[in-house]
Amino acid sequence: MDLLIGSHVSFKKDTQLLGSAMEAVSFHENTFMFYTGAPQNTSRSDLNEELTKKAFEYMKEHQIDPKNVIVHAPYIINLANTSNMDSWNFAVSFLKQEIKRCEKLGMERLVLHPGSSVKLSREEGIQNIIHALNNVLEPDQKVSILLETMAGKGTELGVSFDELKEIMDGVDDSSHLMVCMDTCHLNDAGYDLNEFDSILEEFDQKIGLSKLGCIHINDSKNPCGSHKDRHANIGYGMIGFDTLLSIIYHEKLKEVPKILETPYVGNDWEDKNRIYPPYRFEIEMIREKKFHPDLLSEIIHCYKKD
Ligand code: FE
Ligand code: FE
Ligand code: ZN
Repeated sequence: MDLLIGSHVSFKKDTQLLGSAMEAVSFHENTFMFYTGAPQNTSRSDLNEELTKKAFEYMKEHQIDPKNVIVHAPYIINLANTSNMDSWNFAVSFLKQEIKRCEKLGMERLVLHPGSSVKLSREEGIQNIIHALNNVLEPDQKVSILLETMAGKGTELGVSFDELKEIMDGVDDSSHLMVCMDTCHLNDAGYDLNEFDSILEEFDQKIGLSKLGCIHINDSKNPCGSHKDRHANIGYGMIGFDTLLSIIYHEKLKEVPKILETPYVGNDWEDKNRIYPPYRFEIEMIREKKFHPDLLSEIIHCYKKD
């Protein structure tokens, strides 16, 4: 099977899933991930069925299996914090609607940041997440929620496999719960990715490899255990190209979609507001299996030419 790789792409009001799929193909990807609106807010426009239908035809023509396409829930919804019940209730009902939106779009995997405990204890936060998920999950739903492994910035929960396991074990019916690993977050949470085989072993024992539904491939600006969550371009951070490559091409992860969420490049002194998506170039470098130390300047150069 061909390497299953894509990136975060946009989802625009007027082109919707079709636009997202076309953006992914323009980056030479065979899968992709999108938010159904702005990542940082919860305003969502109506879905256009005609565009969804066209998107499915387009994906078929371009060998993209919709089962491998990922949706990401907005990162401001926090299921862990019940200090303000209005916002917790809103988060729960938003998530229910988001699952409906995924169903309408024919999407089966929705990535979610578990939440932050803020002023509550970690244990209370975890119990709130469990309670929220029990509220949200329906036995006959087609969509799985993928809990993402977090860096541990602030009071984020889900920073270890044990915390994710506690959530999954606590939910009444976890058949629609899976996990999304994020290499930057794992590194920042304190997992040494040079020992990825033993990390995968631990994951398999605690949660089960079949529950791994997606991997976000990002380098990290910070060292292992820093709890920072600042993504770096592939090979330009503290994880490094070879370690990321060994994860991307891991024998046991062939069927798991790999999604890049690396930063756009540019914003240099010459061209202050221009930033460019790096994905086509990073994916080419990954396919070549050879690190280009000048990739970021090559990207800027390439975009400026056309
Ligand atoms: Fe995420
Ligand atoms: Fe991520
Ligand atoms: Zn992150």
